[in-house]
Amino acid sequence: MRGQTRPPHNESTLGECMKKQTILIIEDERSLVEVLTYNLAKEGFDVISATDGQDGLRKAQSTLPELVILDLMLPVIDGLQVCRQIRSDPRTQHVRILMLTARSEEVDEIVGFNMGADDYVTKPFKIRPLIHRIKALLRRPPEETRSKDVLNISGVEVDRLSHVVRVDARELQLTPTEFRLLWTLARQPGRSFSRHELMDSSRGEDANALERTIDVHIRALRQKLENRADLIETVRGVGYRFRPRPTAAIE
Ligand code: CA
Repeated sequence: MRGQTRPPHNESTLGECMKKQTILIIEDERSLVEVLTYNLAKEGFDVISATDGQDGLRKAQSTLPELVILDLMLPVIDGLQVCRQIRSDPRTQHVRILMLTARSEEVDEIVGFNMGADDYVTKPFKIRPLIHRIKALLRRPPEETRSKDVLNISGVEVDRLSHVVRVDARELQLTPTEFRLLWTLARQPGRSFSRHELMDSSRGEDANALERTIDVHIRALRQKLENRADLIETVRGVGYRFRPRPTAAIE
């Protein structure tokens, strides 16, 4: 099963067999740390943990984990600061960061994109989907997860730092969900995403209700894309994909 889900060009395959990957959990809710530790260890990861931001940062620098699960609200140094410091340190800047945020925190819309996290999950969350996302993150080469903050594809520019989307010179007013959907689709053009995956990437909650609302968001997104609406293609029986136009077709 692992071989099938793995992208064909994955350099870490060999290394993975020889060495366990290390995950650092920085979270002040001890019961959550326990649950995560237990489940990740069962999946074969080396797991270390810290319950405040300062200790977490220290452990990130001393152990150089492959991935950090980082809570946003932390004692001593909060998750945003930890994230920034991890990113600004050359030793740790390529560490993958999965941010945990509480559902009530409005900032969750911007956290993942502006602060350098690779992905984020809102609490409360289910363990299985979380592990699925951790594995997906670990499969992506680190440079692929972060090198592009601006996508420029088929006349559509998506800037995840400023959260701005432009079609030609026209700036689109997208909702945070529409933005995330577009970013997810455009980042891997040609790849089909199921509604479930898109839901996952846009938010980790209320599975049944959201599956249908994905269609609503996609419809709204297409309307805003106007003459580029066809870039978001419906894949029958699957979901959606970003289908770039051939270069010649871009004026
Ligand atoms: Ca917390």
